[in-house]
Amino acid sequence: MKAYYDLHLHSCLSPCGDKDMTPNNIVNMAAILGLDIIALTDHNSCKNCKAAIEVGKTAGITVVPGMELCTSEEIHVVCLFPDLDSSAAFDKYVNTRCMAIKNREDIYGEQLIMDSNDKIIGKEDNLLILASDISVSQVHRVVDGFGGVCYPAHIDRDSYSILSSLGGIPPECNFTAVEITAKGNVEKLKKQHPFICDIPLIKSSDAHYLENIHEPQAFLELPQCTPQSLVEILSNKNVIWGR
Ligand SMILES: [Zn+2]
Ligand SMILES: [Zn+2]
Repeated sequence: MKAYYDLHLHSCLSPCGDKDMTPNNIVNMAAILGLDIIALTDHNSCKNCKAAIEVGKTAGITVVPGMELCTSEEIHVVCLFPDLDSSAAFDKYVNTRCMAIKNREDIYGEQLIMDSNDKIIGKEDNLLILASDISVSQVHRVVDGFGGVCYPAHIDRDSYSILSSLGGIPPECNFTAVEITAKGNVEKLKKQHPFICDIPLIKSSDAHYLENIHEPQAFLELPQCTPQSLVEILSNKNVIWGR
């Protein structure tokens, strides 16, 4: 099936995410827009994925548990998992690989954990936007060990991207896809970095506000519209992609 996706969304758990980015608002907005599959990818945390998945079941939209990990080089990497348990285990692991610096809500904003009724059930105390000590060359192996898949986020952006930091994608990173921004100029990017011609490009919104969630524009062919199928397909270098 053609599955229209947006695989990079932040909730109110990300300090930079809008307060209106609650599990219900995100999932229902995505459903109204007509998306088939979305991923929740807060900075360095998966703790709102449980609520979003539960809401997704009611709303009839597939929610993939995920995270936008900040590597030791301050490169953002989208990590996606086949189920809640693997994302929760990865979340626990990442906690041990990040600096424990308290969030300053007055500067960075709140980091809210919610249940499937959008009730606040906790707050993340440590600031989530800091670099972990996982390097970009390690991250594929680490995420793979938890059953997930990962790829560099918004590579055409001037900050927190693999191209802005390293100028290219070292082969030892073993990424099987890359993400470009919605406005990314694919042809220009391919000219500057020809290796991109051989790797699937994911166009996601990186929405921090409800109004920035994508209308259906990019799709991929999935045997089933499930997180498991998505992770499997994204891990496969030989897949032909719809864009
Ligand atoms: Zn980012
Ligand atoms: Zn992001």
